[in-house]
Amino acid sequence: MTSPLPFHRRVEQALGNQQLRGAIGRATARKVEGRLAALAGLADADRLRDEGRRIRANALGRLDEQLTRFVEQVERHGGTAVWAPDADHAVRYLVDLARARGVKSIVKSKSMVTEEIELNRAIEAAGLRVVETDLGEYVIQLDHDHPSHIVAPIIHKTRQDIAATFKREVGATDADVADIPSMTAFARRKLRQDFLTAGMGVSGVNFGIAETGTLCICTNEGNGRLTTTVPRIHVAFMGIERILPTLADLGIMLQLLARSSTGQKLTAYTNLLTGPRRPGLDAESDGPDELHVVLVDNGRSHVLGSELAEILYCIRCGACLNACPVYRQIGGHAYGSVYPGPVGAVFTPAIGGLADWSDLPHASSLCGACREVCPVRIDIPRMLLALRARAATEGHGPWWARVGLRAYRFTAVRPTLFRLAGRLTARATSLVARDGRISKLPGPLAGWTRYREFPAMAPRTFQEQWKGRRQESGSGISSAGL
Ligand code: SF4
Repeated sequence: MTSPLPFHRRVEQALGNQQLRGAIGRATARKVEGRLAALAGLADADRLRDEGRRIRANALGRLDEQLTRFVEQVERHGGTAVWAPDADHAVRYLVDLARARGVKSIVKSKSMVTEEIELNRAIEAAGLRVVETDLGEYVIQLDHDHPSHIVAPIIHKTRQDIAATFKREVGATDADVADIPSMTAFARRKLRQDFLTAGMGVSGVNFGIAETGTLCICTNEGNGRLTTTVPRIHVAFMGIERILPTLADLGIMLQLLARSSTGQKLTAYTNLLTGPRRPGLDAESDGPDELHVVLVDNGRSHVLGSELAEILYCIRCGACLNACPVYRQIGGHAYGSVYPGPVGAVFTPAIGGLADWSDLPHASSLCGACREVCPVRIDIPRMLLALRARAATEGHGPWWARVGLRAYRFTAVRPTLFRLAGRLTARATSLVARDGRISKLPGPLAGWTRYREFPAMAPRTFQEQWKGRRQESGSGISSAGL
C-alpha cells in the first residue's frame, strides 16, 4: 500500500483526527493490559521469551535446510509447495491455478503476506471474486479501506463506523446492527453462503513446521477453519521466514504469540493442517482435495545475513504496535505501509528498499518500548538507527537535511569554527526569542515551530560557561571530570 500523500502529511491528518486517536488509544491500552496480565500468569515468562528467541534464531540461521525439509514433508503428505521469488510470481500462481481449475469464487482468511503482495487486487483484476472472511478484514473490504494493525485490522474504527458500513454496503437493518452480537450474527449469515459456494480457500500461515510439513494457522474466529477445509482447494501463502524446525518449537511459540498478541493463553482456533484430505483406506471426510503452499520470498532472502536479519524473527504478534507511543498517536494508516508500527518501520524498508520508505525509520522516538515487549526480544531501535544511517549514506531524505548535516560535520571537526558558530547562533537566537522561547523558525525548520516552541540557545556556550566556572573556583578540575 502506498499513499499519494507524503509521510508528514499523513501524520498531520492522523493527528488531527480525534476520533481515530480515541479509538486507537482505547484499543491499544486494552491490549497492553491484556498482554501484561497474560504474561503475569506464566511461571517464567522471561525464560520463555529467551527460548522463543533462540528458536527463531536457530530456524533463520538454517533457513535453507529448514525450507528444504518443509517442502519435502508438504509433498510427502500430498501437498504442492512452490517458491515465489516476488509478489508477481506469487499472485500469478494463484490466478493461473484458479483458472486451470475453473474456480470463480474464493474465500480468504486473514493474512498479512497476501496484503503485502496485493493478492486481492490481482484476483479481482483476473475477473474472479474474492471475499474476506475474517470479520475485521470483511469490514475493510466492504469499506475499500486498508488494515491499520497487523492483528486487529479495524482497530481504527468504532462500532458505529462498522454499523454504518453494514447498512450502506450490504443492506443491514437497524436490528442487524443493534449491538455487537447482532452485527457478528449478521456477518456470519452473509459469509456462510460464500464458504459453501467457494471453489478455493486462501489463507496465510503463522508457522510452517519443517519436520512434519504442518501448517499452523491461528485465528479467533471459525472462518480460518472453514476457509481451509470447506472449499476443494486450499492455497496457503507463507513468508519464507515463518518456518519452525519442530512441533516442540511450536509449543513454545504458541504460548508467546497468543499472550503477546491478544492476551490469551491460546488463540481460540489453533489449526494444524498436514496435507490435503487423504483418500483411500484411511479416508478423511473433511478437508480440501488439493493443498498448495506458496513460499513467498519477496525480498526476505536479501535481508538474511544483513544487519536487519533479526527482523525476520518476528511472529507478527503486534505487541510492539500497541506499546509504541508513535503508533498510539497516529495509528497504522499514517505509515503508508502494509506493516505499520515499529516492526513495519524496519520490515518495510528492509524488503522494499529505502528509496520509497526512508521516512519510516524516523517514525520512532527510540524509547525502546518495542524491544521491551517483543516476545522474541527483537532489537528494533538498533535497526531503526542502522536504517537511518543507511538512508543518510545512500542520500535519501530531504536535500536540506543532507546539506545541513554536511555543514554540521564540516564545522564540528574545526574547533575554532565550531566555537564561533556556537556564539553567533546563540546571539542570533537571543534576538528573536521572547521569554527564552522562539515561536517561529525560518525555512524547513518552521516544521518544528508550527506545533511547538523552540527553546532559545543559552546566551553563553557550554565551553564559555565551563571556562568561567573554572576561573571562578580557581579549581584544577580536569576535563576528565566532564
Ligand atoms: S517485532 Fe516483536 S513485538 Fe513486534 S510484531 Fe514482531 S514479534 Fe511482535
